[in-house]
Amino acid sequence: MRWTKTLIPTLREPPAEAEILSHKLLLRAGLIRKVAGGVYLFLPLGLRALHKIEQIVREEMDRAGAIEVLMPAMQPPEIWQQSGRYETARDVLFKVKDSGNREWVLSPTAEEVITGTAAAEINSYRQLPKNFYQISVKFRDEIRPRFGLMRAREFIMKDAYSFDVSDEAATASYQKMYDAYARIFERCGLKAFPVEADTGVIGGKFSHEFMVPAETGENEVVFCEACGYAANIEKATSGIPKTAAREIGAAIEKFATPGVVTIEALTKEPCKVPANRQIKTLVYIADSKAVIILIRGDDQLNEAKFAGKIGTTVFRPASAEEIFSSLGAHPGSLGAVAETLQRRSPTRPEGQTTPPAGSETGAPRILADERLRGANGMTTGANEDGFHFRHVSMERDIKVTEWFDLRTVTAGEPCAKCGKPLKIRRAIEVGHVFKLGTKYSEKFGAEFLDESGARRLSVMGCYGIGVTRTLQAVIEQCNDKDGIIWPLSVAPYRVCITPLNVAPESEAMKLAEKLHAELSARGVDVILDDRDERPGVKFKDADLVGFPIRLAIGEKSLAKGEVEIKPRGGALQSVKTGTAVEAVMKLVSKIAAADASPL
Ligand code: ATP
Ligand code: MG
Repeated sequence: MRWTKTLIPTLREPPAEAEILSHKLLLRAGLIRKVAGGVYLFLPLGLRALHKIEQIVREEMDRAGAIEVLMPAMQPPEIWQQSGRYETARDVLFKVKDSGNREWVLSPTAEEVITGTAAAEINSYRQLPKNFYQISVKFRDEIRPRFGLMRAREFIMKDAYSFDVSDEAATASYQKMYDAYARIFERCGLKAFPVEADTGVIGGKFSHEFMVPAETGENEVVFCEACGYAANIEKATSGIPKTAAREIGAAIEKFATPGVVTIEALTKEPCKVPANRQIKTLVYIADSKAVIILIRGDDQLNEAKFAGKIGTTVFRPASAEEIFSSLGAHPGSLGAVAETLQRRSPTRPEGQTTPPAGSETGAPRILADERLRGANGMTTGANEDGFHFRHVSMERDIKVTEWFDLRTVTAGEPCAKCGKPLKIRRAIEVGHVFKLGTKYSEKFGAEFLDESGARRLSVMGCYGIGVTRTLQAVIEQCNDKDGIIWPLSVAPYRVCITPLNVAPESEAMKLAEKLHAELSARGVDVILDDRDERPGVKFKDADLVGFPIRLAIGEKSLAKGEVEIKPRGGALQSVKTGTAVEAVMKLVSKIAAADASPL
């Protein structure tokens, strides 16, 4: 390929829209362009790199026994209603209407379509196991699309869905995908590691995410260097001790706390209640009902754990008005002491005709964090502005509906497995494997006849890789001050030949064309920079785009019968023109071996 025949619009300065390095480099190296927020166009070089990643994904999926299919991006909303996700996932669903006013869902994922298909097409245990995968465009109405391809509205995902005869067989399928994922990311030159993950509203039994460590990552990973425990912070637990019990004091006691509306303020004079002896009361609205959440004053609520518990991501903190109407006090004086809740009847504030959310059904659900179990001698709001209770016992004074792990782990807490201090780092999620069980098979009747002729539900797994996000993660991980440093496996071209004289009949250009032809014949993808530009400009662009090998043909070295070969980020080497192809081939093998070595 000749540079002037394709389109590589490199930029000196990154456009203002780009916040993180990989996004800037994607734009500066002329790989993508923004069409609208969260919507991108792939230019020729970007597409070549993308195709290489897709090819690696395909090869590893095929190797693991998965079979490729292609499902539609347009899906009927009925199947989303059937799975229950029309509601629970409604915040990410893109919906469009056709001219007959009929609604469609643009596929954010495809459990519904594939499980329906499996229900129709698979009848016997003899057809199992099956694992279907596709590489296709997905749509998600992300609240905050950002960082280029990292969080887009439209992106490319590889999704796979396995169907098995038993739980045990499904675990084996899961393990195959887990192993394939590790190979895929390694082949892409990415340092990615698996962590335990939250199964969230997709449901399911267990899951792992593959994470690429990066300061700009949107995920936080909790890990233990001593024993190898690693989990997404949305799921992570620790061995932190429960709240120390105190002697059960006298009955609870109300005391005045005028103007004290934060945990912090209550720790100060004159109250002086340490945060770890306070109960924090939060009110959320889920499914139009108020839910009270209790966690220790020095802990933070983990919304992902809460979402997993209530089974939907559609929830929000209650407004001050909703809180007042359901608890009778404003934030800062809230509590869940039983007698203060019983006192409340679901009346309406004056002038209000419809009941506010949460006030319709009497006593709200109270979820309490495990760390508070058995705690006593605690202080909490009295549901009366300007008052708190002390000597509160969780068991005696509060009617907890469910105990649950709801807190967020912080760095330095002891590992639950080995007791050593946990660390936290940021990372980019590039892949996700779920063991689903029979959740979707039940909803869509994905059954098969077993050996004895009995009907049984297929046991499922689902597995996603953000292909476009992976491309950007490679750039986020592999770069220096001059630009991208592509791993050989995903580089848009492996070699860039740079003749410094591009006149058609010049020695340099003739040699460039010859080397281009010979390397191409040896299966190396090469680009020939035939632009009539200063050497500095050409070298800068080659470094910015990040071709793994640059082969320069200058007048001076040519006079000595030599060309210059330089690996990206490595040392320049002069070789005789006659051995240039061999030298490049050798360098390719050397870089390939280095890329493949454990990172
Ligand atoms: P996230 O937590 O980042 O939103 P997710 O858990 O919703 O991701 P999955 O439903 O597991 O993502 O999708 C599988 C993969 O698709 C993810 O691991 C990620 O690599 C990719 N992905 C998800 N959402 C996006 C997006 N908006 N833009 C680009 N890639 C995405
Ligand atoms: Mg998401």
